[in-house]
Amino acid sequence: MNEGIALFNETLTEAVSKNKRFLARRTSYIPSFARIGINIGKSGKIRETLAESENLVVPPVLIISVTNDCNLACAGCYACSQHRDKSAEMSAAQIERVVDEAATLGVCVVMIAGGEPFLKPDILKLPKKHPELLFVMFTNGLLLTGDTAAAVRKLKNLVPVLSLEGGRQLTDARRGEGVYDAVTAVMRSLDESGQLFGVSVTLTSVNYDEIVRSDYLKRMQDAGCRAAFLIEYVPCGAEDLSLCLTDEQKAHLRATEKDLYHRHDMLIVSLPGNEDPYGGCLASGRGFLHIGSNGSLEACPFAPYSDTNVKDMPLKQALKSRLIQEVRHNHGKLKESRGGCALKENAEWVKSLQSRSS
Ligand code: SF4
Repeated sequence: MNEGIALFNETLTEAVSKNKRFLARRTSYIPSFARIGINIGKSGKIRETLAESENLVVPPVLIISVTNDCNLACAGCYACSQHRDKSAEMSAAQIERVVDEAATLGVCVVMIAGGEPFLKPDILKLPKKHPELLFVMFTNGLLLTGDTAAAVRKLKNLVPVLSLEGGRQLTDARRGEGVYDAVTAVMRSLDESGQLFGVSVTLTSVNYDEIVRSDYLKRMQDAGCRAAFLIEYVPCGAEDLSLCLTDEQKAHLRATEKDLYHRHDMLIVSLPGNEDPYGGCLASGRGFLHIGSNGSLEACPFAPYSDTNVKDMPLKQALKSRLIQEVRHNHGKLKESRGGCALKENAEWVKSLQSRSS
């Protein structure tokens, strides 16, 4: 197995099943995470066997954008900027079929994104049906109340991750008036109910200092977050390049990532983070793959180009995508770029692969 991929699998196991700090204040989740940890081991062997016997690369992590519908209209929303055809969206049954297949192929973590995932009917059926898999759901948090919150609390393999942009001023500026207070009120009720949850923040040149150079993460930890996802901003187009992290901020983040992790007792995940130890970009199946809301199998959420669609074929067949293989075989070329995604920076090249495959 490729060294970089092997190291990523180790990091994943470490982060999920061995991270006592992560579960320290949520002990009711320990049995479920023990089960998830065992499955991470098993699924690693399945992936290794498929790689050796069928030359098939299956990622440990599958990101699925289940809908483009959303109850917010944030400025510069990445999902909205893709203008995906609503009528082509996968049904709940199609998504369920894909997750069933992914579980048998060795995927062990499913990240659910959108749009707003809680707007997708039957979305909670997935973690209920697959207690062996870890589900991380990226949500704006506004629907995580009442019966939905009660249903989520029963699913010990599901971790909702609520989006903020920083404090009240930055969050409301992008997400709308009153959103910060609404989301932090949801966080308080999740914390009181003993729910395992996290926060995700898109790191931009504007909010970097507030998030990384202040006690912001400590305050999120005190609010009950057991994980923080720091996602480096990826520009939708030329018009918002100024929001990309500056070279100084990128260098500071690389230099302080480990310290941030050790200074907090919650899990801190920096995306894409320093991919060098893994031999470069983890997209295209090396660490993860993305399925768009229309079923297209893509190397990364930030490179919406594809030559296979899981609505038309089994996931195993889609994984043999020539475009994905080509990107993977050239991952060494995909070095750090302006903005958080090397593939985005090489979008024209990826696009050319799509036209060559079709
Ligand atoms: S909540 Fe997410 S998907 Fe919805 S508009 Fe905001 S950024 Fe876009």
